[in-house]
Amino acid sequence: MAKVSKQKGALAPGAVIGIMGGGQLGRMTAIAAARLGYRCHIFTPERDGPASQVAYATTVAAYDDKRALARFADAVDVVTFEFENIPHGSLTLLEARVPVRPGVKALEISQDRLIEKDFLRSIGVPTAAYRAVRNAAELADAFETFGRNAILKTTRFGYDGKGQVRMSPTAKPRDAWRKLGAKIAILEKRVDFACELSVVIARGLDGKSAHFVPVENRHSHGILDTTTAPALVLPSVAKQAVAMAQRTAKALDLVGILAVEMFVTRQGNVLANEIAPRPHNSGHWTIDACQSSQFEQHVRAVCGLPLGSPERHHDALMKNLIGRDVLRWKTLVRDQDAKLHLYGKREARAGRKMGHVTWLRPKGD
Ligand code: AMP
Repeated sequence: MAKVSKQKGALAPGAVIGIMGGGQLGRMTAIAAARLGYRCHIFTPERDGPASQVAYATTVAAYDDKRALARFADAVDVVTFEFENIPHGSLTLLEARVPVRPGVKALEISQDRLIEKDFLRSIGVPTAAYRAVRNAAELADAFETFGRNAILKTTRFGYDGKGQVRMSPTAKPRDAWRKLGAKIAILEKRVDFACELSVVIARGLDGKSAHFVPVENRHSHGILDTTTAPALVLPSVAKQAVAMAQRTAKALDLVGILAVEMFVTRQGNVLANEIAPRPHNSGHWTIDACQSSQFEQHVRAVCGLPLGSPERHHDALMKNLIGRDVLRWKTLVRDQDAKLHLYGKREARAGRKMGHVTWLRPKGD
């Protein structure tokens, strides 16, 4: 099929999608892309990673290798991300040569917790109370306002609960500041939540959006453990959650997938915690339970195709296989109700996401 390069409209099948990052999100995106006839070219510092194993081409280079980035940009028709922490200079280099979807703005906002929270507040999306902290004295000051029932987080490079210190009632500002070891941080009031939700939403090049049903997420040691779809929450809570995701996607002028992680307070209010402008772990259930998965929606959006239907045909429970959990694959593969997804990672290190399993249930109301 003819390759349609660097055009503004839809990319025809046969076009090449460049993906920054080589992990499981890139792998599942590449699988969805292949079904629609696209080829994926992965840019990753890692050889033989999860995405490369199923992709058309791979560039193995550091994320700030300008020459490799320029060659990569010239070899692809559009660039997207499965990983957010790409250096600013690399993003601008790519953007000058090829469409980058979602755009650099969405990535920059999601890379920094402080910018992210300021942005959410600026568009009227509520969050937990927070304060920027630059030294131990500012932390002491923040304790005066918030008390110590709070979490100190690095502003950048925090994921899966990393880069966070929970304050104890006797926490000393100087010790806590030293323990975090950051130049700038954010102190967030701890939310006494009833549950954690996320909404995964796709937004196309034409500005139309399609969201999946809100789901409930349970974490273990700061890492997502299970996602239940749909979340068992009041319709008013689900409505607030969806409205927040729609507002955020629109304000970012997003093209692709956006996940918004949220807390539901005991009073039934919804607070946004974090956004990710890419397919998200809490959306993996959509592969097996929805008309179009989050990965297909992402591919459709970045290639300028109309979005598919996010309708679910089943309810679902997704469980991550972390570290040595993956050794259960022999049992899981025999379970007729389980849909097993393994990511092709060789070493089952503690805390590493090795795969996931989704159990489908007949759809409720
Ligand atoms: P994060 O890295 O911000 O996504 O945080 C990881 C997990 O830590 C969240 O999913 C929550 O379970 C917990 N957490 C983070 N921030 C807060 C908060 N302000 N209040 C209560 N729990 C939190």
